[in-house]
Amino acid sequence: MSAIGERLAAVRARIPARVTLVAVSKTQPAEAIREAYAAGQRDFGENYAQEWRDKAAALPDLRELVWHFIGALQTNKVKYLAGQVGWVHTVDRLALAQEISRRSTARGATTRVLLEVNVGGEASKSGCAPAEVPALAQAVAQLPGIALRGLMCIPPAEGDPRPHFAALRGLRDGLGLDLPELSMGMSGDYEAAIAEGSTMVRVGTAIFGPRPTKT
Ligand SMILES: *Cc1c(COP(=O)(O)O)cnc(C)c1O
Repeated sequence: MSAIGERLAAVRARIPARVTLVAVSKTQPAEAIREAYAAGQRDFGENYAQEWRDKAAALPDLRELVWHFIGALQTNKVKYLAGQVGWVHTVDRLALAQEISRRSTARGATTRVLLEVNVGGEASKSGCAPAEVPALAQAVAQLPGIALRGLMCIPPAEGDPRPHFAALRGLRDGLGLDLPELSMGMSGDYEAAIAEGSTMVRVGTAIFGPRPTKT
């Protein structure tokens, strides 16, 4: 088995079958995705629109691959993604959702989306404020070409992430909408996130090893 295949198996062994493992392949070469796919992985997360396009173009034969866009998304990049990626985890404003809706509808596609919530209230992070979530969720749920499926968060790097995971779940539970997904948990904290109700973990370095530094 390849090194990636071995690490993938080790991560999978710690994740219940009901939780979707999104393999975060940002800055990794297309060949690394191919290795993980050969080991049975199907869901992959990318952060940068241009990098995603190059990799998708290099991997047309991986027919069951499902892309998850998990990076900060500019409205003018939506045209590349709509109808091509299955999921966008990082919707944090209505204008972005409207553009995804418009482009997806034009392509006869439905894009599954999550609302990114800035649970730590960090100025440096994207994501909408928790207080904005009810109104944004109501508005996004009305849009054609979009299926609102849940919430996503990246807790502050410092401190215990668990209260933030619990807060995201509580926020979701209070909305009164049918939102089955909670995208939370990365290499360092996915088990804690699962204990707090995560249904999608986004794991990069634990599968692919350290990310190559960009030159
Ligand atoms: C890079 C990234 C991850 C994966 O991080 P690791 O610590 O390598 O597992 C998960 N989620 C988002 C949004 C990321 O940008």
